[in-house]
Amino acid sequence: MTTPVRILANLSDGEWLSSVGSIEVHNPADTREVVAAVPSMSAEEVGAVFEAAQRGFATWRDTSPVDRGRILLRAAALLRERQDELSLTLTREMGKTLAEARGEVGKAADFFEYYGGLGRDEQGQILAHESPDVHSWTSHEPLGVVLAITPWNDPLLTPARKIAPALIAGNSVVLKPASYTPAIAIELARVLHDAALPAGVLNTVTGIGSEIGDALLAHPALRAVSFTGSNEVGAGLAASLAGRNVRLLAELGGKNASVVLADADIEYTVATIAAAAFAQAGQRCTATSRVLAHRSVLDRVRDGLVAAARGHILGSGVEPGTTMGPVVSPAQRDSIHGFIDRALTAGATRATPAVDVSGESTKYGCFVAPTVLTDVASDSEIWTEEVFGPVVALVAFDTLDEALEILNSSQYGLAAAVYTNDLGAAHAFATRADVGQVAVNLPTSGWDVHMPFGGSKASGSGHKEQGSEGLDFYRKTKTVALRALSRYRVRQ
Ligand code: NAP
Repeated sequence: MTTPVRILANLSDGEWLSSVGSIEVHNPADTREVVAAVPSMSAEEVGAVFEAAQRGFATWRDTSPVDRGRILLRAAALLRERQDELSLTLTREMGKTLAEARGEVGKAADFFEYYGGLGRDEQGQILAHESPDVHSWTSHEPLGVVLAITPWNDPLLTPARKIAPALIAGNSVVLKPASYTPAIAIELARVLHDAALPAGVLNTVTGIGSEIGDALLAHPALRAVSFTGSNEVGAGLAASLAGRNVRLLAELGGKNASVVLADADIEYTVATIAAAAFAQAGQRCTATSRVLAHRSVLDRVRDGLVAAARGHILGSGVEPGTTMGPVVSPAQRDSIHGFIDRALTAGATRATPAVDVSGESTKYGCFVAPTVLTDVASDSEIWTEEVFGPVVALVAFDTLDEALEILNSSQYGLAAAVYTNDLGAAHAFATRADVGQVAVNLPTSGWDVHMPFGGSKASGSGHKEQGSEGLDFYRKTKTVALRALSRYRVRQ
């Protein structure tokens, strides 16, 4: 399906701003097709966007939380109304299937609904005080201008996860989306603009991150950076912000494991792990990429995962029969193939058949066949490094202690799952797994908007996103103690 190239502009100060340079966005299912072009902003233009955000903050911090919430709820309704067109935009620039894209639009709406509703919730606490005529309380206040930097794998959901709590707390936001997927981020800005968000409260910046990175951090009004992406860029941001009073939330890489105990329901377990490993072609920070199976069930787990991989139909995400779309770019495809090739050279066995992607419907796209690898050494690259593609590596273990040791030996600590009907084993796993998210008989991926989300160790800065805990990053607490000295003061 070829449609005209969409020329998009950035939202700044309530206006749609074009720019001299431009970035072409390609369809990963057929890279010959340019689906959109967005501005490639200069450092000066980025500075002007921050000026707009500073003005927007002055208006928004004085808007009541109830009114802020109304706008967020309107945005949620618009996202649902526009679900079909937004899903198509998302699929055409990122590659995931339309069904996956529809799920993402729905979840983005959930974020605006959840945080919009919190506009009517408590805004602080009443505190006890020794003196009966002293009233004491805490109140939450916004930080100021927040920069959100987001990756391409969930290019609508990740901005929503950051923008909704930042806005309900009263901050203004500058959103810098990934250059592979800027169109859907601009559509999100359009939704908020149409929901009557005041000028300057949400602004977008498109441009190559490594080129405009310094300009993004330069403005003195910047108070917080909420970043999701690679460890490398996250470390660079932390170094650049060191010594400045700017908060940094970083959601980084993962190497998530699913552990299958001997008593697990294998049919259910394999279907659930396969979905966690292969959905979105494995491009989810919470995707399962390591499987540890008890030696007694190893063969059944391997055969089940191989069958699930073989059942996938690769193709363009817009085709109704497709169950796995392409990965986002030729670079990502080549990177994943490089991981597989090096694993095979290091002695791993490919349990899945090679898939021919040279047919008419796939030969111009960035396709990677779902792959299961066995005979994997626990110190090998495929076991320790994030692949971010539809690849799982499988190893055997004999005891739960051994499984936990292997699980926790990873530098990452995002999500882990255990499959068992043994409550004691499940409880021990939940207690001892050194990760931010633990699932029992559930996938490593897929955490609802009200559930705090985020990893430990190299997977992030330790701040949780989502839920009421996710709000805390975007606000500061003021503590007030007040003695009323007028003649009307309360006496005991
Ligand atoms: P990335 O290369 O780090 O890019 C992420 C964002 O940072 C993009 O918007 C990128 O812009 C921007 N950026 C790049 N260099 C920058 C710089 N010097 N200064 C400021 N911004 C800069 O990551 P990615 O490849 O898009 O995403 C995949 C990674 O994200 C994986 O490691 C994955 O695990 C991680 N991830 C983590 C979570 C989580 O919740 N833990 C969720 C999703 C993804 P350009 O696109 O213009 O380069």
